[in-house]
Parts: sequence; C-alpha cells; structure tokens
Amino acid sequence: MDGKAEPLDAIIVGAGISGLYQLHRLREMGMRARVIEAADGVGGTWYWNRYPGARCDIPSMSYSYSFSPELEQDWEWTEKYPSQPEVLRYLEHVADRFGLLRDITLGTRVTAARFDEAAARWTVTTDPAGELAARFLILATGCLSVPKLPEIPGLDRYRGRVHRTARWGAGEESFDGLRVGVIGTGSSGIQVIPVIARQAAELTVFQRTPNFSMPAGNRPLDPAEVAGMKARYRQWRQAQRASGFGMPSDPPTRSALDVSPAERDAAYQAGWDRGDLTSLIRAKIRATVHDRDLAEALSPRTFPIGTKRPCLDTGYYATFNQAHVRLVDLRATPLAEFTPAGVRTSEREHELDAIVLATGFDALTGAIAAIDIRGQGGAALADAWRDGPRNYLGLAVAGFPNLFTITGPLSPSVLSNMMVSIEQHVEWIADCIAALAAAGRRTIEATERAQENWVRHVAMVGAVTLFPTADSWYMGANVPGKPRVFLPYLGGVGEYRRKCDQVAAQGYRGFTLA
Ligand SMILES: Cc1cc2nc3c(=O)[nH]c(=O)nc-3n(C[C@H](O)[C@H](O)[C@H](O)COP(=O)(O)OP(=O)(O)OC[C@H]3O[C@@H](n4cnc5c(N)ncnc54)[C@H](O)[C@@H]3O)c2cc1C
Repeated sequence: MDGKAEPLDAIIVGAGISGLYQLHRLREMGMRARVIEAADGVGGTWYWNRYPGARCDIPSMSYSYSFSPELEQDWEWTEKYPSQPEVLRYLEHVADRFGLLRDITLGTRVTAARFDEAAARWTVTTDPAGELAARFLILATGCLSVPKLPEIPGLDRYRGRVHRTARWGAGEESFDGLRVGVIGTGSSGIQVIPVIARQAAELTVFQRTPNFSMPAGNRPLDPAEVAGMKARYRQWRQAQRASGFGMPSDPPTRSALDVSPAERDAAYQAGWDRGDLTSLIRAKIRATVHDRDLAEALSPRTFPIGTKRPCLDTGYYATFNQAHVRLVDLRATPLAEFTPAGVRTSEREHELDAIVLATGFDALTGAIAAIDIRGQGGAALADAWRDGPRNYLGLAVAGFPNLFTITGPLSPSVLSNMMVSIEQHVEWIADCIAALAAAGRRTIEATERAQENWVRHVAMVGAVTLFPTADSWYMGANVPGKPRVFLPYLGGVGEYRRKCDQVAAQGYRGFTLA
C-alpha cells in the first residue's frame, strides 16, 4: 500500500458483516473506500471460528442482511440456526455479488492510526508495512474478535496438539481415538464439546463457571416456512429494527402468578420445546444428567440467569452421561499450569493428546485497544479509555474526529441480534458522512459534554439491572486488569435507533462540525 496515493474517503478496518456492508454503502454513495482485513478471507467471526459444531444462535432468516430485498429473496437458508460454514458461504456470496473484493486488502493488519489536524485526515499504518490515508476511519473490528488464552503458564511446554476455537484451521477436525481436554464452557465450548465427544477416546471438560444453556431445537427449514417469511420479509425487518434485541417477540399478556401451576408449567414446557425459554434450566439439567453430583456441578449458581450470554446447545448436558466424558470443576480444583503431557490442576495432572481452548474473548474493546490510535494533539485512545471506554452513542469519541466504531462499546452490540445493530450503525455512519459532505464540512467530533452524558446514561441503564452483579465478559471481568464497566448499552435496539436518529435530525446534536 502506498501512502502517497491519493487519499481515500474512508478506510474501514475489518471485513466481517460490518466492514462488508459499510464498504458497499459508501461505494453506493460514490465514495472511495478500502477495507483492510487481517484474515486471508472475508467473514470475520464466521471466517475465524470454524470449530466443529459452530453455529449461530439467531435464526438464519433473521441473521441476514436486510439492505437488499433481492439478496433476501435469492438466498436460500437451509437450517433454522445456520452453521458456521453456511454463514461464511453467505458472506462470501455477498462479497462476490456486490463486487466488494476489489476494494478489500486481505492478510493485512492495521497497527496504528493517527489524525493529522491540518489535513483533517487519518493515516493508518499496517503490517505488512504500508500506509494509507483517508478522511474517515471506520473501525469494523468486531466485538468478539480478539481471543483470550488461559491465564496459566506453560502452554509453550505442552507437547500435544493445541486448538483454539476462535482460530480454527482447516484439517483440525479429527480427534479419533485421542484423549482430549476442552478448557472453557461458554458458548463455543458448549457447541464444540458434544461434537468432540463423538470422536475422542476420552474427553475431559475443564469448567470454571457453568452456564445456562437450552436446547437449540435446530432443524432443516421447511419450504413453506421459508416462502412465508419471504412474503412478509419487509414487515419482519421493520419489526426487528423496532424491537428490544433485534428479534421481535410478543410481550407477555399475563403474569405467571395469575395462572394455575399446571397452566404455568405447560407454558414453560412449550417455551422449552421451542428452545426459547430461559427458566427451568437447572431442573432440566437434573433430569438430563444421571449423576446427581455432576448435574449439580453443571448447574449455574453464581449469577442470575440472563446476566451472562445464554447459550443454545445440541445435546450438551446429555454428553456428560457418556462414560468417556469427565467434568473437572475448576472452582474446586483450579488449573495451575500446562505441562509437557497435559494440564495440572491443584489436585493432579491430566494427560492429554490434544487441548481445545474455548477461553473467550477480550470483548468489545480488545480489537480497538490493539490499534495505537492517536487523535487531536497526538492523544492516545488507550489513555482516554484507561478507566473504561468513553464515547458518544457508542459511535464516536471526543478528541478523535472522523473516527467511527461499528457496534462499539456502549452501544447495544452484543445484547442484540448483531446483524440488526450492525446495519443500523453502518447506515447512520454513511448518512452522517453524506450530511457532512452536503454541508461542506470536513470534520465531525463528539463533544466532551455529550460523551459524558452518554457514558452516564449507559451506566445508569445498566445499574438498574442485575447485569453488573455477574462476573461476565459484558463487565470485562474475564480479562485480568480490565476496568469493570458494563460495556453494552441496555436501552434496547429500537429505542437506541430512535436516539441516534434524533441526534442526526437535530443537526448532529452533541457533535462539533467544522
Ligand atoms: C463464536 C461466535 C458466535 C457468535 N454467534 C452469534 C450469534 O449467534 N448471533 C449474533 O448476533 N452474534 C453472534 N456473534 C457475534 C458476531 O461477532 C457478530 O454477529 C458479527 O459476526 C460481527 O461482525 P463484525 O463484522 O462486526 O465483526 P467480526 O466478524 O468480528 O469481524 C471483524 C474483523 O475485523 C478484523 N480485524 C480486527 N482488528 C483488525 C486490525 N487491526 N486490522 C485488520 N483487521 C482487523 C478481524 O480479523 C475480523 O475479521 C458470535 C460471535 C462469535 C465469536
């Protein structure tokens, strides 16, 4: 990449769902934009997380772009919850269909970005070495794109195979006849464990915190159901945008206490059978797992339901009834170190031929913090965010003009169907850039005051819920030393959209335009 080339209108970092759509949208406006992506292909999350069993937990027909009615009608989803290969195929199709690849540089990481005040433009530095300049810098770097390693020493000493769910390569699928250990029982662990159990000679699951999980009830899509959704897609999309979490649902019309126990149980059971109920779980674990102590060890007790990301699974709890599957409760016997032969807990060494790390992500801020970003006066974003992220609307940061984040911290992001939140941000950013151009302005920057109010509002909305009571990645609690801040915005997708639209309609209230 040649920094002396004519500056672009926009540089977009990341070629996942966000970056692909942002590029398309800006190009449609006649702007010159380029996407820089570290991976060797497009797809983001769905490129990197190729572990066996990886699956989306939002129904496919709702976890898809809405911006193109033709795409929506043409694409044929095959399952209720799409597998990773199917989502990746879809995103590759989108990149191909809209001719996006010619403006995407793959295999290149953005390492630094600095704002030149005189020229009112961003210059980014990349690895492999290169420089690129543009009026706007848009971080489509992902909420869950920086995987974490376990916090114990010795991984480099371990002589067996190491797999990471978030960096799964081709040809890593067979565990036939091996003694396998899986560390981590979050969403990825819960998906990969039943699949590996079918292959491994012995499977040891190392669990720090049990999670609430419900049966996904995945199944092939029925052609009549697909046709029905396609006929009402436009209304459905509208309802998604106005909903709380990007998935429309009918609000309850009666209190659980107003009906008989039998009626209540029947309603709960119906919800369970549909795979969308978040109660009853502990009772279901006891009914599924034969060994009482094991059932108890798998039952979440330390946080209220819903305050950590609830999981959907396919046969997770039943997997533990198999004689060759063992659970190690790390609350009782914590991990101490990797050894050449496996891992050691406070109790003993476990010898393993392969270890699968499903140990989560440095969520929401990790990928942004990994870039050395310098704004007005050379100030570092890392310093501005030392005590936790501070921004306006989860979209823009005071002191960092013409910088936008897609589904950044303090926006609904991970507490929503991300597809809906991503489209909203992409469209808001594109409209904002168009409005600036129309007004003959070069820069837009959040004011300190608007930022302060937004940070306070997000914290206040979070504080009236039970979310801050859980040691979750929503709180940054899974990363040692990360400030304890409730990272997503809980105000709801529809309400949040309304607020963003209002800001735009009022001439970008809370921003300085120059
Ligand atoms: C295993 C897993 C399952 C998920 N399941 C669901 C689900 O069921 N429903 C849901 O709504 N959401 C789910 N998510 C969240 C998911 O991340 C989003 O739905 C969506 O894919 C995010 O798209 P994105 O483009 O914003 O980010 P990503 O898909 O994370 O893409 C970001 C891209 O930016 C690149 N990048 C980052 N930093 C740099 C840099 N400095 N230089 C160059 N490139 C960079 C990364 O390589 C990556 O490709 C899941 C996430 C994971 C990890």
